[in-house]
Amino acid sequence: MDLATANDNVVKRIHYMVNRVRQLTEQQLYFYNQPIQEIRGGGRVLVNGREMGMYASYSYLGLIGHPRINKAAQEAIEKYGTGTHGVRTLAGTLTIHDELEETIADFRGAEAAVTFSSGYATNLTVISTLVGRGDYVISDKYNHASIVDGCLMSGAKFVRFRHNDMAALESRLKSIPSDATKLVVADSVFSMDGDIIDFPRMVALCQQYNAWLMIDEAHSVGVLGKTGRGIEEHFDMPGVIDIKMGTLSKTIPSVGGYVAGKKELIDYLRHASRAYIFSAALPPAQAAAANEAFKVILDEPWRVEKLNANTRQFLDGLKARGFDTMQTETAIVPVLCGQDDLAFAMTRECQQKDVFVLPVVSPAVPQGLARLRATITAAHESDEIEHAMNVMEAAGHKLGILQGTPAQAAETLKR
Ligand SMILES: *Cc1c(COP(=O)(O)O)cnc(C)c1O
Repeated sequence: MDLATANDNVVKRIHYMVNRVRQLTEQQLYFYNQPIQEIRGGGRVLVNGREMGMYASYSYLGLIGHPRINKAAQEAIEKYGTGTHGVRTLAGTLTIHDELEETIADFRGAEAAVTFSSGYATNLTVISTLVGRGDYVISDKYNHASIVDGCLMSGAKFVRFRHNDMAALESRLKSIPSDATKLVVADSVFSMDGDIIDFPRMVALCQQYNAWLMIDEAHSVGVLGKTGRGIEEHFDMPGVIDIKMGTLSKTIPSVGGYVAGKKELIDYLRHASRAYIFSAALPPAQAAAANEAFKVILDEPWRVEKLNANTRQFLDGLKARGFDTMQTETAIVPVLCGQDDLAFAMTRECQQKDVFVLPVVSPAVPQGLARLRATITAAHESDEIEHAMNVMEAAGHKLGILQGTPAQAAETLKR
C-alpha cells in the first residue's frame, strides 16, 4: 500500500493521527512515549538527560527496583532461563507459575488464582469466557478499556450504567429478565478519576438480583485496605467478590494479569479461556518478581501507610492551592485543567520545572474535563511533594487555571 497516494479509510485514519501528533510535536506539546533512561531513588527518574520527580507512575508502593524483587527475578533466570516452553497447558507451566498463583490466592483471600500475560488480556479473556450470547454483562460507563473490549468480545448483551450510580445499576438489573445470566463488572478505583466504586451497594445489588460480581483491582491492590489487599479489605467485606481481577504491572512491578476466586471457577478458566490456552506463559523472571512483590508488601507494611500519608498531603495541598481534584480519594489525582490545550500547556510548564506529569485529554475523558492525571507513590518524600505542588501552583496561575474556571466549566458540563 502506498501511503502517499492511496486514499482508503485506513490511510485516512493514519494521516489524521500522524498529523495530530506532528502538530503537537511542533508546538512542543507532545509528551507521550518519552523514554525513561534510568530510575533513581525517591520517586525520581532520568528523562531527556534531566532528573525529574515522577508523578505519573503506577508503582504505587515504590517497588520498582526493590532489591528483593530484583534478586528473585535474577535467580529465576539462573534457574529457568528467560523464556518458557510455550503455553501453560502444554509445556509452559513452571513451578514458579504455580507458586505465584498460590501467593496471589493467599494475598487476595481466595481459593485459587490463574495468571495471564497481561491485565488487558485477562479482562478480554475472562469476561468473554464467562458470558456469551443470551447473557448480560453490566458495566460502569467509566470502566477501563480492557473491560469494555472484553464485554464487546463476549457477545453478551452489553449494558452500561451511569458512572458509580447504584440507582442506575439497579434499574438496569430490574430491566433484565430475572432468569438471565448476569455479570456485573467494575473498576474498584477508576483509572482516570481516582474515585472508589460504591462497593457495599454494588455487592448488595448483585446478591439481590443474583448477578456475578467481577471487580478490576488494577488501582486498588497496594492502595486500598490496611495491608493493601484491596477493596474487600477497605470496606471490611471479605470474600464477597466472585471474580477478583488484578494486574501485575502496577503496584506489582512486573507484567501480567490474574483473576482469583473459587477453585472450580479458576479450574474452568484454565481449561476454557483462550488467552490461557493459546498464548505463552509469563516469563520466569516476571513471575518470580511478581511472586516476591506480594510478599514484600506484607513484610513492609510501612509502604501502604506512607502511600496513604503522601496521598493525604498531595490531595489536601492541591485543594488548598485552589485546584479541582474532582472525586478522587486515592493515589490517582486528577488536576482539572479544562480544555485539552490547557492540560497540554500545564504539562509543559510542569515538565520544564522537572515535575514529570502527563495530560489526559479527550476522547479518553469528556471534552472540557482535560486534566493532569498525577499519581502519588510511597517513594515520594514530603518535601518533594511540596515542591511539585508549588510548581503546579505557579503553572496554574500562569495559565489561568487557578481562577476557578475549570471547576465552573465542569459544573456547566454536568448540567
Ligand atoms: C492498567 C489496567 C489494566 C490493564 O493491565 P495491564 O496489565 O497493563 O495490561 C486493566 N484494568 C485497569 C483498570 C487498568 O488500569
